[in-house]
Amino acid sequence: MNGGVVAKAGVEPRFALALLGVAMEGSVSLSVIEGRSCEGCTACCSFAPIRTNELDKPANSLCLHCAEGQGCTVYDIRPQVCRGFYCGYFFLPELGEEWHPSRSGVVIRSEHFDNDTITILVLELTAFLVSESFAGLVGAWVDEGISVEFERLGPPGHLPAKMRINEILEDAVKARDLRAMHTGFAWALSYIDKTHTWEKDETPFRSLLAGDARV
Ligand code: SF4
Ligand code: SF4
Repeated sequence: MNGGVVAKAGVEPRFALALLGVAMEGSVSLSVIEGRSCEGCTACCSFAPIRTNELDKPANSLCLHCAEGQGCTVYDIRPQVCRGFYCGYFFLPELGEEWHPSRSGVVIRSEHFDNDTITILVLELTAFLVSESFAGLVGAWVDEGISVEFERLGPPGHLPAKMRINEILEDAVKARDLRAMHTGFAWALSYIDKTHTWEKDETPFRSLLAGDARV
């Protein structure tokens, strides 16, 4: 999470993967792929809940320091979790340019890599979800025995929900049946959206980062 936009320009990756209290130091060794950038995306300044000494922010609410089309307005003093966070697009070479969150509408959550889990946060229901690129990689991960999860955001200020999709896709992947995979994707997303009881994130916005910030 680098405030997207202007934030990434000229900034060296820091490789830390600690986010939102999930300690990963020492358990995963990943390198940011050269040339990858946020390209104006500020998704993680919105979907991620933040709990730090300087800044608290509920899930699925745009950070009060994120300016539309501009990025992080407190870039130099942003919290450590923001400095250290890169989504999966920055780490997995098999993700082509079409997987960039601002084009695909999906974010790969890098926080779960050390559990052999790929969590795909589906922000938007785009045509990318029925592309061969998406089905091909998801199918390959399922084939390899990697746990794959779909995650969806609830209403603003609510916690997200996710479900494992390996068992749903198993037969379709074995049969290399693209249509059946698409049916599985649609079923899983609809199941989360329609059956989950979204839990409110009670954390109020609180920031000590800038003179004009709300406290
Ligand atoms: S402080 Fe807010 S706007 Fe800045 S990088 Fe962190 S979440 Fe994004
Ligand atoms: S979701 Fe990924 S591409 Fe988008 S702002 Fe966050 S780190 Fe950058």
